[in-house]
Amino acid sequence: MPLTRATSIQVERAGFWFFAEWHVTTSDGASFRVPSRRLRDTSPVRAGEQGARTLWHVDGEWYWDTDGLTAEEVELTLWDRDRKREARFERLRKVRAREEDLASARRERIPDEVRAFVWHRDDGRCTQCGAEDDLQFDHVIPVAKGGGNAPENIQVLCGDCNRAKSDSIV
Ligand SMILES: [Zn+2]
Repeated sequence: MPLTRATSIQVERAGFWFFAEWHVTTSDGASFRVPSRRLRDTSPVRAGEQGARTLWHVDGEWYWDTDGLTAEEVELTLWDRDRKREARFERLRKVRAREEDLASARRERIPDEVRAFVWHRDDGRCTQCGAEDDLQFDHVIPVAKGGGNAPENIQVLCGDCNRAKSDSIV
């Protein structure tokens, strides 16, 4: 991780007016002085170096950089991180929506015992025209309109009658 969030950074205000500055102390005791007006910047401000690390202040947050990044590179790294995070959440949203669709499709599937019952009851033919080919199980009241999978709400229809019915509903 070239750029990590710096925790336990202590900041103390010193001086006044134009000369106001922040005394920034890290957890292991290094301290830097940063003119306070610079901390109002939303762009990266280099606060100081400690060994091979550089402490950056970016829009209210502190970061350690171990890659010798420039201010622009710090900004780009954070921007890229935000973008990837957004993309990840967007992907998760889609995955969840798909999972929910699958779950509701499973809920809507007509149970085998109901199919067998309805098939016998309707004599294995279209309840509208009596056709014996291209038969389908149809929800009398569509699932989308609150119809369930009980036998009273299921009927055998042929493809033509089913399509004619769908057309008349829409
Ligand atoms: Zn039919």
